[in-house]
Parts: sequence; structure tokens; C-alpha cells
Amino acid sequence: MKNYILLLSLISFSLSFGQTETPPNIIFLIGDGMGLTQITTGMYANNNNTELEKFEYVGLSKTQAARYLVTDSAASGTAMACGEKTYNGVIGMNSKNEKIPSILDHCANLGYKTALLATSSIVHATPASFYAHVDTRKKYEEIAFQLMSSNVDYFIGGGKKHFTRRDDGKNLLKNTDSPYKIAESLDEYISSTADKIGLLTYYEEPPKKSMGREPALPDMLSATLDKLNQSGKPFFIMTEGSQIDWGGHANDVPYVVSEFLEFNQTIGVALEFAKKHGNTLVVVTADHETGGLALTKGNIKRNQVSGGFNTKGHSATMVPVFSYGPAAEQFAGIYENTAIFTKLKTAVSKE
Ligand code: MG
Ligand code: ZN
Repeated sequence: MKNYILLLSLISFSLSFGQTETPPNIIFLIGDGMGLTQITTGMYANNNNTELEKFEYVGLSKTQAARYLVTDSAASGTAMACGEKTYNGVIGMNSKNEKIPSILDHCANLGYKTALLATSSIVHATPASFYAHVDTRKKYEEIAFQLMSSNVDYFIGGGKKHFTRRDDGKNLLKNTDSPYKIAESLDEYISSTADKIGLLTYYEEPPKKSMGREPALPDMLSATLDKLNQSGKPFFIMTEGSQIDWGGHANDVPYVVSEFLEFNQTIGVALEFAKKHGNTLVVVTADHETGGLALTKGNIKRNQVSGGFNTKGHSATMVPVFSYGPAAEQFAGIYENTAIFTKLKTAVSKE
């Protein structure tokens, strides 16, 4: 009888995921503020080339927040991570003030390993949308506190001060009950065999790429993919090119380009992994466009580009979504940013 039940559950499992397939890995890449023009600008600056040309499907995502045409990264991060539109500034909660679980939580409940990487602080709005629930993104110390008891297995990002120099006097990194091993370097992060590992790269927000930010995002992703792959479990990882947005706010084309180029290389690492190992869905998108950038001048032979900005803030234009791998076809078309959550959930559940 027991064997019969086991056999039945094996059959239903293989029906859900095909004869030999296991649930797919997900590599979700968010270029903060990476609108179509930011991509185009980076592409021309990069010898008319981007890793995004290798994707199988392209879609468009509508980014507006609840009651606001122009979203911020908290509302759009929450929309993609948790599947509901909310107010600007709100993380992991819907417009009725209810806490809502993220796709990372959903994957963790299915037995996935999980990871978050960012070139901002790890408590910044975009990564926080995958593990925190706060009514304002400015509650960095509360967000740090929530990370320490979250479903995130591996994380790399800046903002160490929110863990160590806090208004409540606690040092979260010295808490002996913490499940996290805190690495002091990427090498230590790589060599550690702990189940949960964090690496806080900078005390404050990390500097610009052009100012020598280390470790490089592609290296952070390779190191983490190695760990996730060795776990033998399916995995979900979100990797953010955080500062494409900051280049937009600064109305600084070279800043946008250098941040995009690092993100572009990171996308290359993700695609290479997916091609080598298979059964890996790679999705690349943005939370919104920043700066209202228009590319109006340039010289293709010299890889020179220049453009003009319309705002120091965000714009409401739709942003592209690129997908590769199992269920990639789900991401073609035009849809709300909340549908990204639903599509990712469908990809891992196949109910
Ligand atoms: Mg961000
Ligand atoms: Zn922004």
C-alpha cells in the first residue's frame, strides 16, 4: 500500500514536470531603471552588442503602481516579487496593508534554495521586496532585521551599517542564534559550506562601478550559481543591477552605460549557466525606466552615444522583459508587472 502511494506520487510528480524533468531553476535579473533606451545606449556603446539579443522571447511590462502612474522601486519590486500592485514606498505589502509572500518564499516552500545579489545595499527596495514587509522602504533597520529570519539562503550586497550600527543598539551580525554565516570577502563566501551565508560588501551603499566597486556582479553571480548548483536542489536567484537607476537619476549617460555593461556581463553568466545545465529559466527585466532618456546623437563606428533626459525621476513607459529556457514563452506579450510573479509561480508549480 505504501509503495502504491509512493508510486502514485511519483507518477503525479513526473506528470507535472514531464518524464525526466525536475522543477526548473530560476535566474531573475532586474536592471533597476533599465528602460529600452538604457539598453539601446549600452548596446551601441558596446560595439552594437548586448547579451539580451540571445534571448528567445521578449515582452513588455506595465509598471504603474496602485494610484500612481509613475512607480518607485518599492511598489514595482513588490509587484514583480509578490504579484500585487501597491503604493509607492511600500515593500512586501499590498494596498490593503496586508503582508504578502514573495516568489522567493513560494520557491523556498517548494524546497528551492534561494539567493539575492545587488549592487546597492541588500536592504534597498528591490532586493527587500523579496523578503521584507514594511510600510516604508526607509525602514532599513527593520528590513535588515527581517532578512536575518528570512527564506534567503545566500545574499550579497552593501549596507552593513544597518546590521551593526542600529538605533536599537543590536548588532545583528553578532547574534549567536543567527542562522547566517557572515563572510568577510567573496573568497570566504565561496569557501564557506554553511547553509545560509551573507556577504556585506560595503558599510554604506556600494560605490559606482566606475569608482572600482568590488566584487564584480558577474563574479558574485558565478560564485552563487556554483553554490546553488552544488546543493542538488532547484534554486531561485534574483540579481539586481541596482545602479543603472542611479545613473538615470543623475542624468549621467556614462554612469548608465558603465552600470549597464556590468549588468550585461552578468546576464551573460546567467545565460551560459542555463545553456550548460539546462532546465533553467532566465528572465531579465526592469522595475521602471529612470530619467526619461532619449538617445538622440552618436557615432556607431566610434561606439559614441549621447542623449537627453526628461526628468531626474522615473518615467511610466513600459519596460522590456527577456526570457530564455523552460516556460520562457509565457513572457511574450504585454502584461502588468504583477503578471511576472504569476508567470514565475506557474513555471515552478506547473499545477
Ligand atoms: Mg533597486
Ligand atoms: Zn530610482
